[in-house]
Amino acid sequence: MNDCLFCKIVKGEIPSTKIYEDETVYVFEDINPTAPTHYLVIPKQHISKLDEIDASNSAVISHIYEVIAKLAKEKGLDEGFRVVSNCGESAGQSVFHIHFHLLAGRPLAWPAG
Ligand code: AMP
Ligand code: ZN
Repeated sequence: MNDCLFCKIVKGEIPSTKIYEDETVYVFEDINPTAPTHYLVIPKQHISKLDEIDASNSAVISHIYEVIAKLAKEKGLDEGFRVVSNCGESAGQSVFHIHFHLLAGRPLAWPAG
């Protein structure tokens, strides 16, 4: 997966503003934020999109949600936040390395468009 943008970010080949990192997860600032807090939470292993989650890789996804809960507390997102994973082009996915947008810091309309 040498051509994957987010794999390159994980490897440090493309710069990013790191928020958090552990053995399996990397969190960084979205380059084009749509909210005052807009992080991208990704597994270090390459998974293209949400419909590739299965028993072989779901542990990292569960860990991602633990990281999100921890970051929400640490960053004081107590007024509310949203987690979004776009799956497929028509849903708005533009980078095909699974990622979870963590959005906060402004009112978030629902339902989303
Ligand atoms: P999606 O459209 O759901 O696939 O989300 C991809 C996200 O990646 C978008 O919000 C982009 O702004 C963000 N993005 C693209 N390139 C970079 C980059 N080099 N560093 C940080 N975020 C990026
Ligand atoms: Zn990748």
